[in-house]
Amino acid sequence: MRIKDIRERPVSLSDPMSNAGISYLEMTASAVAIDIDTGEKGMITGYGFSSVGRYAQSGLISERFAPRLLAIEDVEGANCGLDPVRCWATMMANEKPGGDGDRAGAVGVLDMALWDAAAKIRGIPLWQLLSESYNEGNFHKRVPVYATGGHYYPNSDLEALKDEIKGYLDQGYDRIKIKCGQGDLADDCTRIEAVLALLDGDGSRLAVDVNCMCSTSGATQEMADAYAPYKLAWIEEPGHPHDFELLTALTGYYDGPIATGENLFSMSETYNLLSYGGLRPDRDMVQVDPALSYGMVEYANIVRLAEAGGWPRSQMVPHAGHLLAYHAVAGLQLGAHEIAARRDFILGGLQDEVLIEDGTGSLPQTPGIGFESHAQLWALLKEL
Ligand code: MG
Repeated sequence: MRIKDIRERPVSLSDPMSNAGISYLEMTASAVAIDIDTGEKGMITGYGFSSVGRYAQSGLISERFAPRLLAIEDVEGANCGLDPVRCWATMMANEKPGGDGDRAGAVGVLDMALWDAAAKIRGIPLWQLLSESYNEGNFHKRVPVYATGGHYYPNSDLEALKDEIKGYLDQGYDRIKIKCGQGDLADDCTRIEAVLALLDGDGSRLAVDVNCMCSTSGATQEMADAYAPYKLAWIEEPGHPHDFELLTALTGYYDGPIATGENLFSMSETYNLLSYGGLRPDRDMVQVDPALSYGMVEYANIVRLAEAGGWPRSQMVPHAGHLLAYHAVAGLQLGAHEIAARRDFILGGLQDEVLIEDGTGSLPQTPGIGFESHAQLWALLKEL
């Protein structure tokens, strides 16, 4: 079994939304296709699409990681299948420890395509392959999900925010995350109260993401004081992802849940977060994103690392709302899947066959990840 061809194309997201830190107007992502010559089963193609927010990685893929994969003489593993772990080890040969950054996303999107192909070769959905590989065959029968939205848009107002969130509730979501932090705390509170009015005032159904906007412990404490009366499900990314002193000060000050980790990209960075970030396994959430963290091979080790440190899987809640993460949450029985709920967004929604009801999603049965049944992504990937 051999990898015959790898094609990558940078795709413009060109979306008008923004959060407290960045706009998505000039954001890009890598679309990837990997052809596997399986012998008996003919040619099978696995697809990958970058997680959102860290740009396409065309150079790293074409110069380093694709050539290494193409040089592997045989990628076959157990059960007559493709072995993503062997492929991963080859991609990471001659890579020094540390400096994860964009490299982790380049490897991650290739790893995604390899797992898609591996599951297709086995003829099973990816959640099932992950469950067999890393979770002793256990999986979520229904996948806990929450809807992410409430971004900032040009010329938008509170009514538009409320209409957006009403739309998500109508789709069957019962937990919502919105963006805050672009304006002042009074503006944040106005946004929170507008959405809470749609959630029966129940703060446990609403999370707020401030995208690293607090630069001092004083600022995080002012924010916590302002948000505390709402008893939110969590506050996400209060400060810089590497500022563990700030994070520790906040968790010592604020009793409510904190979520972070989407901007950490490896097992060693996660180790530092869990060791020095002051996070509490009984309430806080770790949002490391498998597609940005060297893919499923590394992510499975991150889950093992967290468990060894006393973190239940319920507290692992991957960032980004991509289709790979849905399979990971299902097959590894993680806490919840984040869905980019705006359906016209490039990564919006899930595979067409997934039905959302009462805040949970059904299990897709199509072999692989199911890009072929996601209208926006398939329109791009089929061109590869
Ligand atoms: Mg976030």
